[in-house]
Amino acid sequence: MTEKEFIEYIGSKATLDYQQSGILASITIAQACLESGYGTTDLAINANNLFGMKTTLSGNTWKSAWDGKSKYTKRTKEEYKPGIITTITADFRKYPSIDKSVEDHSLYLSQAKNGSKLRYPGLVEEQNYKTAIQIIKNGGYATDNSYVQKICNLIEKWNLTKYDIKGDINMGYTNSSLVTYTKLSPNHSGARTHTIDRITPHCVVGQLSASGIAGCFTNPGVQASCNYGIGTEGGVALIVEEKNRSWCSSSNANDQRAVTIECACDSSQPYTFNSTVYNKLVELCVDICRRNGKNKLLWISNKEKALNYTPASNEMLLTVHRWFANKSCPGDWMYSRMGELAEKVTKKLKKSTTSSSTPKHTTSNSTYPKAPFVVQITGTMKYFDSKGKNRKELGEIKKGTYTIIETSGKWGKLLSGAGWIYLNYTKKL
Ligand SMILES: [Zn+2]
Repeated sequence: MTEKEFIEYIGSKATLDYQQSGILASITIAQACLESGYGTTDLAINANNLFGMKTTLSGNTWKSAWDGKSKYTKRTKEEYKPGIITTITADFRKYPSIDKSVEDHSLYLSQAKNGSKLRYPGLVEEQNYKTAIQIIKNGGYATDNSYVQKICNLIEKWNLTKYDIKGDINMGYTNSSLVTYTKLSPNHSGARTHTIDRITPHCVVGQLSASGIAGCFTNPGVQASCNYGIGTEGGVALIVEEKNRSWCSSSNANDQRAVTIECACDSSQPYTFNSTVYNKLVELCVDICRRNGKNKLLWISNKEKALNYTPASNEMLLTVHRWFANKSCPGDWMYSRMGELAEKVTKKLKKSTTSSSTPKHTTSNSTYPKAPFVVQITGTMKYFDSKGKNRKELGEIKKGTYTIIETSGKWGKLLSGAGWIYLNYTKKL
């Protein structure tokens, strides 16, 4: 990877992280470049650790994304006294991915404390990179006296402020076109902090219609919701948009990454779904997988294994409510069919045809800036699994603004990971 490629690689991750953590992407990228030698240090290569994060950092008085045990031991040079370099052996955090390193670093910067006070007060949501890096230096992040200047130089040299994209932007999440009824619930946490890689089917306990299921979640007092409801007649209700985190599975970690679906069923054991509801669930799962760039739905019946499993970028994992709470949800009838559901959906996904359509008209001849950038879409637009000749159509996105995190010719990749769109049909903001 060249220096430029490293910045593009880390850039999209830093933008996504900024939207969640409030730590400027330009700061994260510049620190990653400086502290990992553009991703070339031992620590970056062997431990996915871009920021030299040690195991004992700041007394671990903050909510970490590190697992608390994986480590990498190496010799390191430290400047404890100005101008005097000492070599010591130290334990560093080892991460399963670069994403985790970025996430952990931002959690540290936003939450680490010195006694009862934040180490880096005012850093979260600080919009000026010069102020932000001074706060970081003042909190004792680096001992190098020229640290602030080095970071500012990198931000200016690579024009990194263009990665500081935040605001009311659609991450590229879409809702199902199978929806027949929409009644949005006030009960949700806003934007997800994790991309969609799980589906959790639930049993609503009652042969309710789609509108009836939606009606269960309109009152803020119930403190519950789901993304979709499938009614006994086969209607599909949109209750919490896919871009948002629903309150459904008694697990924050699960609901941040899952599309949750309440299904009409009998009101007593084994909470049987009628065949219309079950078939609609298959159809909806196919649609959710497709729109989120997945071609494989997995069922791992062992709870421990399933919850520790990291799905590949093309995989969607099924989970169940009973793993997170003392409930029988989704009921024994559905629980015994989870493997079959995964198989049916995957079979349909593999059958999906290759699109051979080529764009017929162009509305723009501009060249595109380095990603990430934001585009506007004025009508609906198709998106694909790749930008190649053999690309498969995955679905349609609605009009709105979308963040592009990677470009290839006239194709752009959506931030959500849902797929690629043809940029000539879009307007650059
Ligand atoms: Zn449930």
